[in-house]
Amino acid sequence: MKRISARAKYLVIIMVVFLFCSAVFAKDYITGANQWVTYPTNQNIYYEGELTVAGDIYSTDGVRLLSSTNQGLVYADDATVRLATLHNIGDKNDAITNSILTTKRDMLIGYSAINGLFEAKSKKNTINLTINAQLSSLAYDALGYQDGAIAIMNYKTGEILTMVSKPSFDPNNPPSEEASDDDGLFINRVLNGLYVPGSIMKLVTSYAALETIDDIESQTFDCQGGITIGDQWIECNGVHGHQSFEQALANSCNVAFGLIANQLGNDTLSTYVQKSGLTSSTNIDGAKTSASRFNLSGASKADLAWAGIGQYTTLVNPMQFLEYVAAIANDGTLPTPHYIKDDSFLSSLTQMTKTDSEILDKRTANRLAELMRNNTIQTYGDYNFPGLEISAKTGTAEVEGKNPHAWFVGFSANEETPYAFVFIVENANYTGAATEAAKQVLNQIPNIVK
Ligand SMILES: [Zn+2]
Repeated sequence: MKRISARAKYLVIIMVVFLFCSAVFAKDYITGANQWVTYPTNQNIYYEGELTVAGDIYSTDGVRLLSSTNQGLVYADDATVRLATLHNIGDKNDAITNSILTTKRDMLIGYSAINGLFEAKSKKNTINLTINAQLSSLAYDALGYQDGAIAIMNYKTGEILTMVSKPSFDPNNPPSEEASDDDGLFINRVLNGLYVPGSIMKLVTSYAALETIDDIESQTFDCQGGITIGDQWIECNGVHGHQSFEQALANSCNVAFGLIANQLGNDTLSTYVQKSGLTSSTNIDGAKTSASRFNLSGASKADLAWAGIGQYTTLVNPMQFLEYVAAIANDGTLPTPHYIKDDSFLSSLTQMTKTDSEILDKRTANRLAELMRNNTIQTYGDYNFPGLEISAKTGTAEVEGKNPHAWFVGFSANEETPYAFVFIVENANYTGAATEAAKQVLNQIPNIVK
């Protein structure tokens, strides 16, 4: 009897071990099989390291941005389209992070945990993007010889029309990885760039002021070209005299915003930067944005003033800032940003998790929108954007030892063209460089986007 029960015990132990191993395998299979399958040594789907069974990727205006043959990947025919959409699609060596080739590879080759590679060879997995190839090319050209980033989003639907990052390269003729690391060539600047915001940050300081300083709209701010706050001289870009809050924003007055930041205090300003969503990363169809950086711990009065003006240690991500202005345009609510079309096979899987996020209270959003509209009318010139009702804010971000970066962020308040935008020209030759690029691109939207 004893022997039998000892055997039974061994049997139980063996069965437990077997079940445990099966469970581990099943878990690994479910979570890891897509990685095994998509590994470049799998000759079913690769030829000399290049995908041979990738589905096609189309832009919203019907340009084939990527397809595959037995010889590997084939990009768009037009060279500018290739350069302008490279960071969205990805490169043959997977050097570019957060591209569709890296984030959606398993789906692109038709792999699913249930059907395995069954669908791959039948090429069912066409991915339709919300990216507009013509608009992206125009944006790429608008940057001229400068590096930078441009993104445009429909603020009512969350569809991203353009996500251009420069420098770029022709995927048909890729550079060696070591040679070009310095320029951040492989980074999508829209999703993962971090820049000093400069005066566009005054839109966030204004948000906090509108909600927490009761008499902000009846205060006046006197600017004589600069002011001493704490132990530092805060220089302004002009001599603005007596101004209301609204005028101070249109003037982008550093004196007014240095004082406002100090009325708010470290805690309140920090709270509202968080509320604006800037410091939280967003997942955009599997690509994670870099969260903006804002830190006032141990900041002096002068530091606080500079933070409210958009300098100090603050760094913002272009997509995060685009989301913030899109929410302002859309009564305070941000629809889920995405660049894979809702009706495509892929997004049906993620559709369920999409929710609009409320970033600002409707009343505050509407007032900020009015202030931004006033900026264009008073300062940037409404005639530069006929019919678009552009509501915006410029920024000049000081960068040590180089020309400042030029920003232009905002949206079209015209219902016919519900687009929010962010333009950054790095180390610009003149302060209006981003506004000029925006002029070239935004004015063409009614002709390009149908
Ligand atoms: Zn001033």
